[in-house]
Amino acid sequence: MAGGEVENAQTATPGGDTIFGKILRKEIPAKFVYEDDQCVAFHDVSPQAPTHILQGLDKSGFRLVINDGKDGAQSVYHLHIHILGGRQLKWPPG
Ligand code: 5GP
Repeated sequence: MAGGEVENAQTATPGGDTIFGKILRKEIPAKFVYEDDQCVAFHDVSPQAPTHILQGLDKSGFRLVINDGKDGAQSVYHLHIHILGGRQLKWPPG
């Protein structure tokens, strides 16, 4: 994606096809870590932690994030869960 997440979220809108639809249909590549009939997990193209998978788990702890809407900095309108881990995460988040 061209801009940062907050900038992208200002112009992203719900409805229609998304970049994730293209990934699911294998029209563009992604690094998949899991795939079945119901769900897929793949690495984020711009990881925000050493482990940043759009579904997965990390043994030493992790954080689940769902960004929703403009104020939540959602840039891709296809329901997905961020799983962040692999380092000590801070609280509160930025
Ligand atoms: P959102 O802001 O909607 O919660 O999260 C969208 C996520 O999708 C962002 O973390 C962004 O880095 C990731 N992303 C955007 N485009 C691509 C892409 O083409 N490939 C992959 N693997 N991740 C993407």
